[in-house]
Order: sequence, then C-alpha cells, then structure tokens
Amino acid sequence: MSRTVLVLSEVRDGKLRNVTYECLAAAKRIAEGGPVVAAVFGTKAAAYAEALAQRGADRVIRVEHAALDAYTTDAYAQALIQVIEAVKPDAVLLGHTALGKDLAPRVAARLDVGLLSDCTDVAVEGGEVIFTRPIYAGKAFQKKKVLSGLLFATIRPNNIPPLEADASRQAVVETLGVVIENVRTEVKDVVRKTAQGVDLSEAKIIVSGGRGVKSAEGFKPLYELAEVLGGVVGASRGACDAGYCDYALQIGQTGKVVTPDLYIACGISGAIQHLAGMSNSKVIVAINKDPEAPIFQVADYGIVGDLFEVVPLLTQELRKV
Ligand code: FAD
Repeated sequence: MSRTVLVLSEVRDGKLRNVTYECLAAAKRIAEGGPVVAAVFGTKAAAYAEALAQRGADRVIRVEHAALDAYTTDAYAQALIQVIEAVKPDAVLLGHTALGKDLAPRVAARLDVGLLSDCTDVAVEGGEVIFTRPIYAGKAFQKKKVLSGLLFATIRPNNIPPLEADASRQAVVETLGVVIENVRTEVKDVVRKTAQGVDLSEAKIIVSGGRGVKSAEGFKPLYELAEVLGGVVGASRGACDAGYCDYALQIGQTGKVVTPDLYIACGISGAIQHLAGMSNSKVIVAINKDPEAPIFQVADYGIVGDLFEVVPLLTQELRKV
C-alpha cells in the first residue's frame, strides 16, 4: 500500500541537518512507492530543494514566510498544520531534536492525533508500519503500530541511515503560502552554548568526561583527543554539576540523547541515567580506574586505568596515524 509521507526539514546555520536526510530515508520505507514530500520553512527555503531531492524527496514544498526564519513554536505549528492540510499525508515525520520535541506534540494535540516520539527504527511488516522506540531509559524497545489516523512520529538522530545523495533524483518544487498570526515570541538573537560547532546529538564521535576528570582543566586532554578524532566533547551530569563544563554538554536522561559511531567515556561510572543517553552508541569505549564500574557492562572495549595517562597516550598514538 503506497503512502504519502511528509517530512519537515530542519535547517541550522544555513545547512540542512542530517536528521532531515534520515527522516527522508525513513519516509521512503513507509511510503512504499508513494510520494515523499519535504517541507522547508523560511525565506531561504529555495536553497534546500535540490539537496532534499537528492536525498529522496519527490516533492519539495517551500514555505517562504519571514516568520519562519527563526524557530518559534507558534509560527512553526501554524505553518506545519497548514502544510499537513494541503498535502493530506498518511504520515508525518520530524527529527527528535529540540525543535521536533517542542513542535510535534503541539501539532499532534491541535490535530487530535497520537504521536510516537523518539523512534529509532521504522519498517513495513506485512503491510503495516511498525515503529521501534526505546523505553525504560533504553533498557528495552517497544514496537508500535498506529491503528487509525495519521502516522505521526519523531525520529531519533543517527539511527536510520540516510540515502546517499544522488544527483539524478529530481523533485517537483512548489511554494505554499501560509497565514501566520498571533505569534507570541520573537527571536532576537541566538546565543551558542558550545563553541564545538557540531550538535552533540548528531556527532559521529564523542569523547565524554565524568566526575573522574576532576576539574575544568582536566577536560583539556579530552578536547585534544576529540580534535584528533574529529569528534566533540560531552559530559556526565556529575561533571556538569561539579562545574567542570557547561550543561549544554550533558548526556543522559536529563541531558542529550546521543547515538554516535564511537563514544569514549572517560571517568564516568555508568549510572543508569547516563546510560539512558548513550547506551545505543555503536561502539562504546570506557576508560575508568575502577574495574567494577558499571560503564564496563555496556562497553565494547574497556580500559582499566587512569584517564590522565590513557587519554594523552591515545591522542599521541592517533596523531601518528
Ligand atoms: P561518578 O559516579 O562519581 O563516577 C566517576 C567515575 O570516575 C568513577 O567510576 C571513578 O572510578 C572514575 N574515576 C575517578 N578518577 C579517575 C581517573 N583518574 N581515571 C579514570 N577513572 C576515574 N547523570 C548523567 O550523566 N546524565 C543525566 O542526564 C542524568 N540525569 C539524572 C536524572 C536524575 C533524576 C537523577 C536522580 C540523576 C541523574 N544523573 C544523570 C546523575 C547520575 O545518577 C550520576 O550521579 C552521574 O551520572 C554520575 O556522574 P559520573 O559518572 O561522572 O560520576
């Protein structure tokens, strides 16, 4: 059964975010040959049509309203609802990002439909669309299907591989006018919390530090290792609470959920609340001087030792590669 699937694109710093490409790949699976429609908001929307087509969009809907240049819940919710009314999709996908987490529940509530949030996989089985989502802080996975109405889901970044860009893919590009009124907030300025450039939730390599790092200064070797690996630095709440780094770096149940290809945990004990944010990483390396630390139970590779010896040694060796 073919379906029309709508994806809301996310743009940051003038670039489409990877999670948009991942949503397009998920949409292709659900669509079963039906059209995948990408909506892109803001006055620069035209710039993204080609990239969206190359990654699998059959139709691109540009919504070029100045109120959509910066994200506000009011404006985006109104615009997305009008796109949904125009496209009449069978399914709507957003990234499970700060934007998606804020917008999707609001739009679902206004449309009076359910929402499957934070999905890590989607497949069509026996003609039915089955979404997978983690529960109990990532200790188990649920498989869910929607019994009636719109399929509305947010997709966790870094889980569904995007389609390779293919320049031969073309999309029908349309513009849609929307009415946006009574927007109660205005974005004056966007202040970055981290200077790392890459969003933790989309990073492929994360070097993360915990209370074992002992000070803000102690994070220096972690930044050096991250730089050599082309990754970014994250932290446990223990490290953030101790003031070693900014809360923007916190990974875990009450921080960011990450699924990088490589997660290196340095001086992190592996509390359940931390594991909730990183246990789905593809390869986990733990460096801890306590051989009994729970982090070793989820680690693919464990190094029992002092991080202040191990981390610089790793950096030194990797520099030679
Ligand atoms: P610790 O548990 O103190 O571990 C430090 C580790 O460093 C130890 O294992 C020690 O052996 C090792 N170590 C010390 N020195 C060295 C050295 N020189 N070399 C190598 N290893 C060394 N935590 C999160 O991380 N993210 C969350 O989102 C989060 N949310 C929470 C929500 C709630 C409601 C609650 C109650 C807690 C939450 N926590 C969260 C806190 C969590 O329970 C832990 O307290 C926290 O993760 C511990 O941080 P840590 O591993 O850095 O510190």
